[in-house]
Amino acid sequence: MAFDSLTEKLQNVFKNLRSKGRLTEDDVKAALKEVRMALLEADVNFKVVKSFIKDVQERAIGQDVMNGLNPGQMVIKIVNEELVRLMGSETTEIKLQPGSAMTVIMMAGLQGAGKTTTTAKLAGKFKLKGKKPLLVACDVYRPAAIKQLQINGEKQGVEVFSMGEKNRPADIAKAAVQHAAKNGNNIVILDTAGRLHIDEDMMSELQEIKETVEVHQTILVVDAMTGQDAVNVAGTFNEKIGIDGVIVTKLDGDTRGGAALSIKAVTGRPILYVGMGEKLSDLEQFYPDRMASRILG
Ligand code: GDP
Repeated sequence: MAFDSLTEKLQNVFKNLRSKGRLTEDDVKAALKEVRMALLEADVNFKVVKSFIKDVQERAIGQDVMNGLNPGQMVIKIVNEELVRLMGSETTEIKLQPGSAMTVIMMAGLQGAGKTTTTAKLAGKFKLKGKKPLLVACDVYRPAAIKQLQINGEKQGVEVFSMGEKNRPADIAKAAVQHAAKNGNNIVILDTAGRLHIDEDMMSELQEIKETVEVHQTILVVDAMTGQDAVNVAGTFNEKIGIDGVIVTKLDGDTRGGAALSIKAVTGRPILYVGMGEKLSDLEQFYPDRMASRILG
């Protein structure tokens, strides 16, 4: 599970702090130096680490902590609060159109990030909330991707709209929205094609979809295993097509977890959900406070 190693390191630092009665400024600085190392080793963006440590240090060396009854506990509390803040403080929901109006969601991301799986996972969540989602196969380059979406849609009991590989993704999206309007679907989720790396074709394809149908939410799927790359990918997608939120997949894997900690601070866009496994039920809403508690162990 992600963060195991970070959790272990932080727990060691905090054990030392707790064992001291009074803390000197040097004690706090030494402890934060170790926290800094642990965050860098977890692959958190170095600028993010730098400002994080600065914020914690300013608060921890303030009067309250140094003169407090239990300074060690206070430092831990500050680290916890700053971690929550780093990840965006509040839980962000996918914004749906009001009332019974249809919401169009475009899923984007690199190939292999987990986009198709996550699209089906999301459809399941919406269905549980009483919505009637329609999944749309806009990945026209990989027949296997269309098949995969159909299989997963069937497992979720959600309709999948596909026009094969011969049409432009934007035209498929347009036809899907028309189909949804007739069919009473109130959520349309477009599964778009990824590429191995960011390239112009992929971006212009996504742009074209956005120019052809009204996309209400653009959600980027990134793979936690790719660490800092995931953060860079999120930055680039946000610049080029504009994203509303991010889903970080594969946090169940043996990742260092840095992407989950850096994305909000680097891109300004919140994490909405995290993927915790291959099963279609393995998608969790992202709660910054719960994630911070999980990290601190
Ligand atoms: P796409 O190319 O972005 O559409 O990626 P896929 O949806 O095909 O997923 C690529 C692989 O990642 C598949 O084997 C998925 O089962 C796997 N996968 C997706 N999300 C997760 C996750 O949260 N955890 C784990 N362990 N595997 C995942």
